[in-house]
Amino acid sequence: MGKDNNKEEINRDLLILGSGPAGLSAALYAARADLDPLVLTGMTLHGQASTTTMIENYPGFPDGVGGVELGQLFQTQAEKFGAEIEMAEATSLDLKQKPFLVETYSKQYKVMSLIIATGATPRKLNIPGEKEFVGKGVSYCGTCDGWFFKNKDIVVVGGGDSALEEGLFLTRFANSVTIIHRRDELRAGAILQKRAFSNPKINFVWDTVVTKIKGDEAVDAVNLKNVKSGKEHIHETDGVFIFIGHKPNSELVAGQVDLDDNGYIKVNQFMETSIPGVFAAGEISDPHFRQVITSAGMGAAAAIQATRYLEKLEENA
Ligand code: NAP
Repeated sequence: MGKDNNKEEINRDLLILGSGPAGLSAALYAARADLDPLVLTGMTLHGQASTTTMIENYPGFPDGVGGVELGQLFQTQAEKFGAEIEMAEATSLDLKQKPFLVETYSKQYKVMSLIIATGATPRKLNIPGEKEFVGKGVSYCGTCDGWFFKNKDIVVVGGGDSALEEGLFLTRFANSVTIIHRRDELRAGAILQKRAFSNPKINFVWDTVVTKIKGDEAVDAVNLKNVKSGKEHIHETDGVFIFIGHKPNSELVAGQVDLDDNGYIKVNQFMETSIPGVFAAGEISDPHFRQVITSAGMGAAAAIQATRYLEKLEENA
């Protein structure tokens, strides 16, 4: 990647990619270590947590806290100590040269250390009709789109915490929520299972996958297939909400840092990647926990380690 002379060139000690709980916690810790961190927010300001209506398991908020509100609080706290937050997305990274080179559409950053906290995006079913009906009945975010399904009948695909949590949220609007799961046992935790089973608006279709999403202007039905019997049938519905896990946003670093088989950045206990000076935190490097608190913790750890790394660089200069 060559230098683009039309782009403004900026030198920084530490750049953080991503503004979710990991990125902003890293920013807070780095700012308090006087590193003047710059955060490039990425496309989803405050990350996926900001699309959650209510977060009930982040300590310190016994009555829960809105996802948008928590993201704003993280940002305010990081900014209070001097972190700079820029609404921009990295378009390319070159980690082979030092300083590392990070480009956005209008700027070039030369950075001594980097914390990658670019998170993950919802997985797609990759079935006919899914792409075509996004925004016309297909959604990956209950908080964003639930309101459009007032008194409608909808389906939710998936059997994890997200499917149940979002399914429960969608009962506020929808007439009925049918959860379609490919097995006969949920992956979701016990509390959410209990709430979902006792909600009169929720019903379950087990051992079943969606094979096609159909409609004219908007979704009006899905084709379902029982994976045990092989039997297929059409299920009429006004909306399809898909919550089948996430894909790490690691495209920019693929081929540059070590990834696991599923595309997550490999980190050690110090949040170090395979390249010294490059750290990763949050869902980009965490296929296991994916909680706001664990991502925030990883962000803090990455910033502490980046601080030590930069101190060592200075000592050896
Ligand atoms: P997840 O736990 O990976 O669950 C994904 C679900 O989708 C599974 O039930 C899976 O089925 C199903 N699935 C995957 N691919 C599919 C496909 N192609 N077709 C049909 N079904 C498919 O993902 P998640 O629910 O998004 O949760 C991610 C993480 O965030 C978890 O660690 C979860 O605990 C956490 N989270 C926590 C909360 C909370 O604590 N309140 C809320 C949301 C998320 P199988 O079960 O058969 O694999």
